Amino acid sequence: RNIKKYFPITGGVLRRTIGHVKAVDDVSFTLNEGETLGLVGESGCGKSTLGRVIMRIYEPTEGTLTINGQEISHLKGEALRKLRHQFQMVFQDPYSSLNPRMSVGSLIAEPLLVNRRGSRAQIQEQVESLLAIVGLSPEARVRYPHEFSGGQRQRIAIARALALRPKLIVADEAVSALDVSIQAQILNLLADLRKEFGLSYVFISHNLAVVKHVSDRVAVMYLGRLVELAPKSKLYTQPLHPYTQALLSAAPEPKRHVARERIVLMGDVPSPAKPPSGCAFHTRCPQVMDVCRSLRPELKEHTPGQYVACHIYS
Ligand code: SF4
Ligand code: MG
Repeated sequence: RNIKKYFPITGGVLRRTIGHVKAVDDVSFTLNEGETLGLVGESGCGKSTLGRVIMRIYEPTEGTLTINGQEISHLKGEALRKLRHQFQMVFQDPYSSLNPRMSVGSLIAEPLLVNRRGSRAQIQEQVESLLAIVGLSPEARVRYPHEFSGGQRQRIAIARALALRPKLIVADEAVSALDVSIQAQILNLLADLRKEFGLSYVFISHNLAVVKHVSDRVAVMYLGRLVELAPKSKLYTQPLHPYTQALLSAAPEPKRHVARERIVLMGDVPSPAKPPSGCAFHTRCPQVMDVCRSLRPELKEHTPGQYVACHIYS
């Protein structure tokens, strides 16, 4: 609820704080158990920062973060460490998150050993079962990350993430570095795991087609704020926010029946250190009105389940 994450900007010889980057600026949403929420937006919109706040890698500057009724916004130390089993993150480049000097078996066993999840023999067994779950052979145990392709490395990272049986996985551009055919395999794997383990996902991507493939609901972010949140079926067929409309008009989609006119946005995304007044999108919005420059639109439910932050609808 009302999550903010501001990073100080320092300047001068004394390195005083001279401003803040408002990476996440007042975001509220609920993630249901077993649900996949897609989080889309251009690079720099704050989606990765929001993912890290959800994971409690970052502490929110303001706002409350609750999991199963427990407030975790400011948990620290042992209390946070205990809770960490419940969520895991999968990144774009598994190579940078997998220690190249560790064998695949050790990489997957590590979280189990650290958390004392069984005897050596039991852990060994769990590693083999995790490898099978992600579609790798038991022999992968004795090999090293560099011996695998990008898609296989992502499977290793997923096996490691699954080791402690998390409830929530935040996937940040998890398939963006992979070839399209491999992307589909990993997305299908994630979908299978979701059913098998009752996982929930926050699926972060700049790619609307990928998000469409995996998500139940989709949240669109612009300059640190959610501008639209809707069930997938609504967001892709009747986007309400002018920014969502522009993003969708630019996304290539071969099976589209109704041709959508391409909406070209003028200018660049403004700096999150100096977001525009009122609606942060007003500097680029094709439908801007006077009120947009001074009054910030709140995210409100427009049709059942579809939320939008735009004065056109109020
Ligand atoms: Fe455009 Fe105004 Fe809506 Fe913002 S509030 S998206 S500027 S119409
Ligand atoms: Mg990012």
